[in-house]
Amino acid sequence: MKGLVFDIRSFSVHDGPGIRTTVFLKGCPLECLWCHNPESRSPEVEKVMREYKLGSSCIRMPENIGKEMSVNQVVERVEADRPFFEESGGGVTLSGGEPLFQPNFTTALLKELKNKSIHTALDTSGFAQAEALDAVFPFTDIFLFDLKLADERRHLKFTGRTNLPILNNLRWLSEKGASLFIRIPLVEGITDTAENLDAIRHIISKLKGVQRIDILPYHYTAQQKYERLGQPYHLENMKAYNRQKAEKHKELFVNLAPHVSVGG
Ligand code: SF4
Repeated sequence: MKGLVFDIRSFSVHDGPGIRTTVFLKGCPLECLWCHNPESRSPEVEKVMREYKLGSSCIRMPENIGKEMSVNQVVERVEADRPFFEESGGGVTLSGGEPLFQPNFTTALLKELKNKSIHTALDTSGFAQAEALDAVFPFTDIFLFDLKLADERRHLKFTGRTNLPILNNLRWLSEKGASLFIRIPLVEGITDTAENLDAIRHIISKLKGVQRIDILPYHYTAQQKYERLGQPYHLENMKAYNRQKAEKHKELFVNLAPHVSVGG
């Protein structure tokens, strides 16, 4: 079983509990305007030119984004970090892109990680077939679940997709007893409106199993990635989200989970 992976990063402390190794899978059905990982969205290997500075000269080299890897290759790679997982209560997080866009590979990988007694987390937009979620459920310790926009039309406008399957999947996970870490991106004038945050608050208040809520203020570090990929960036003039404002929005959610934080 092979999947398309575009990065594996050790020592992440923002993708679930403890020190984690995050496996980034390629392919996402959404097109969020603020996406920080534009290189993750295409389900194909992409070629870009990377520039390296060497003294006063600049060398340009072609580089592939995305690499086919087998489940065993990924497991072998993350096993090297096992001492850090054991020391910190960490594990492996599958992210993307949307990991459920490669449902068979994601399921097989999670299953193998559990066979090796490695803690697993799945970072998902929730936009997935119900069957895919059902398949990964037994092998996933924590779901990091994004809640971006509660209104269906605005979700369609800013991410290119309806949020109906997302909300259904979230409720299904809650009913099944999943451990949920909810992630709310704050993007000025798009996701941070009073209507949207109130509606998201209402959705979360009806859920069981919410262990944590992370408020994720927008930052603009992805702009160069868009340039390198030759993709348009639609939030060119947007500034990094004001931290104080984010802390204020956090207050809306403090009673809904044991841990609520800004920054993820
Ligand atoms: S769901 Fe995540 S990876 Fe997909 S487009 Fe949105 S921000 Fe990017």
